[in-house]
Amino acid sequence: EEREPIEEARPKTPVKPMTATEVKVNVSIPEAAERAAATGADGVGLLRMEHMILSTNKTPAKYLEDHGVDAYVNEIVEGVRGVADEFYPRPVRVRTLDAPTDEFRQLQGGEDEPDEHNPMLGYRGIRRSLDRPEVFKHELEAFARLYEMGYDNVEIMFPLVNDAEDVIRARNLLEESGIDPDKRTWGVMIETPASALGVEQMAEQGIDFASFGTNDLTQYTLAVDRNNGNVADRFDELHPSVLQLISQTIAVCREHDVDTSICGQAGSKPKMVQHLVDEGISSISANIDAVRDVQHEVKRVEQSLLLDSVR
Ligand code: PEP
Ligand code: MG
Repeated sequence: EEREPIEEARPKTPVKPMTATEVKVNVSIPEAAERAAATGADGVGLLRMEHMILSTNKTPAKYLEDHGVDAYVNEIVEGVRGVADEFYPRPVRVRTLDAPTDEFRQLQGGEDEPDEHNPMLGYRGIRRSLDRPEVFKHELEAFARLYEMGYDNVEIMFPLVNDAEDVIRARNLLEESGIDPDKRTWGVMIETPASALGVEQMAEQGIDFASFGTNDLTQYTLAVDRNNGNVADRFDELHPSVLQLISQTIAVCREHDVDTSICGQAGSKPKMVQHLVDEGISSISANIDAVRDVQHEVKRVEQSLLLDSVR
């Protein structure tokens, strides 16, 4: 009798520690979906839409002009679908388009993009989306189509929101696109001090989750350009002021039953994991290669909290 080859006998999903805090994974390109799912992560905490559009080498406006709405919506549907399939029924949090103008300017159609002195403080994230609903609505159309197809594990995340006004406008556009905000899971990224300080007002508008984008939250809190080597040694996601904004936000969200998570790079760092689990974050999303270590770090911190509570 032949023995099963060892590769076959090995479970596809590695054995992971059971933790109260969920550990998810960040996916920047749909092609990484299978590898990401094999980590045993509890879902995708951030699926970036950028690659799906920018890899066509055209700005959204140029793509729409050349290929039409159906093709544009399809690029997004197919990009998300590959990941949503791989993870189903685990949730996949998809972020709407969030590229700064300097990235768009390198593409075909880029000559029509604004030439900004400081793109990181400029026309990006939800600001751009709200300003150009005629383009943004096609992203939302892709979500509507995914829901029609049965991908109820897809969640919608808005980047770079500042306040309740941004949330109200984004939610209205969801409704206009035939997506019921009360039925679907949607939320915001906490990337600016304004959004951290104003999370209560956003919670009142019905967001289901708030996810820390610590790459930007650190940049904007410390006024340290994340892409500037001259100040790279000052880019500190564990700065007490960044940690305080995070702690405060988690506390308010817990009061309002809003899920909290992190999808910035710092979620892969043990010291940040310790802080977040201490504060009672709902989930941590890490890079593919870091998921396993984060799972174990979460387990370690949860166990020590448990021990402290019975002492
Ligand atoms: C962040 O800002 O932490 C984040 C996850 O978004 P991005 O790195 O794409 O700006
Ligand atoms: Mg960001």
